[in-house]
Amino acid sequence: MFDLNALTRDNIKKLVPYSTARDEFKGKAEVFMDANENNFGSPLPVNYNRYPDPLQWKLKYKMADVKGVPPPNIFIGNGSDEAIDLLYRCFVNPGVDNVILCPPTYGMYEVSAHINDAVIRKVTLTPEFQLDIPALQQAIDEHTKLIFICSPNNPTGNTINRSDIELLLNNFDGIVVVDEAYINFSRHKTFIQELTEYPNLVVLQTLSKAWGLAGLRIGMAFAGEDIINTFNKVKAPYNISQATMELAMQALDNVSQVNEWIREIVIERDLLSAALIQLPMIVDIYPSDASFILVKTTDAKGIYEYLVEQGIVVRDRSKVELCLGCLRITIGTAEENVRLLEALKSFHLSKETSVTA
Ligand SMILES: *Cc1c(COP(=O)(O)O)cnc(C)c1O
Repeated sequence: MFDLNALTRDNIKKLVPYSTARDEFKGKAEVFMDANENNFGSPLPVNYNRYPDPLQWKLKYKMADVKGVPPPNIFIGNGSDEAIDLLYRCFVNPGVDNVILCPPTYGMYEVSAHINDAVIRKVTLTPEFQLDIPALQQAIDEHTKLIFICSPNNPTGNTINRSDIELLLNNFDGIVVVDEAYINFSRHKTFIQELTEYPNLVVLQTLSKAWGLAGLRIGMAFAGEDIINTFNKVKAPYNISQATMELAMQALDNVSQVNEWIREIVIERDLLSAALIQLPMIVDIYPSDASFILVKTTDAKGIYEYLVEQGIVVRDRSKVELCLGCLRITIGTAEENVRLLEALKSFHLSKETSVTA
């Protein structure tokens, strides 16, 4: 049985959160002399002299409309990385509790585990980049607090089988984190509609990828109200700035632009994949539900360095488990993808000439 109280660290259960001036007075007033703000203004065209809403309600209401999730089930963080860190800080007793990671996957889960001194248990994905359920069952014990599942997975690009995630949600009494940073590019369904079904589910999404706002730093966690309230207790009181909130709200009014880009990126992903597989140094292209593709090459390091000389940077993932020889390529604009293909065609030539020279 899932019991959030039992899962939460004692120090967090006992924590009396910081009470802001905005928490203590919520009524209407004309003169605010309660928060040591500068009542004269800001040295900017727009005033930012007032502390922002600690719980970002206006932004959450807008987000709720876009995502179809009630505002109390939404946490907004300074990137998804803030939610990842909070999961450890709220639930994982340092040096005692463990977290299960399924490599190859997003690196922040492990970095954040180290920062929070969580015991790490790695259960490598199968060669098809799916969850190894028997090995997961073996790895889980009474100190397992979190399992991170990235779907579509970074860097492999594939979606994790829904039935496997459901199996964990139904049988694991800790928290199952489903990181959906790339969900907008996927043919498969999100898990954010399942929050009422599974009290142990936390879904992570972000405005950094499809929404084109990586520089703004907005990440979301969707979960049951009790989990969100625990995050709210522990987070920095003003974790999202007023400027960020205003820009994010403006962006959320532009869903149609974002949907148009998603369609284009998916088309470009298929075009680029079809063109790349024709090239002699490309051994394999893994099916992607994301805004990047993982490609197996004959010489990852050589191709990476050659592309850098041509002014093109891709990600060398060849040192990562199950990714021998692999590069991860973010889908560019049509022009950028053509430029990549042209560069790769001359890589082949430069190799041949160097062989015959
Ligand atoms: C990019 C990415 C994120 C997003 O991180 P932000 O901190 O929101 O920019 C989260 N998870 C995965 C798997 C990612 O690739």
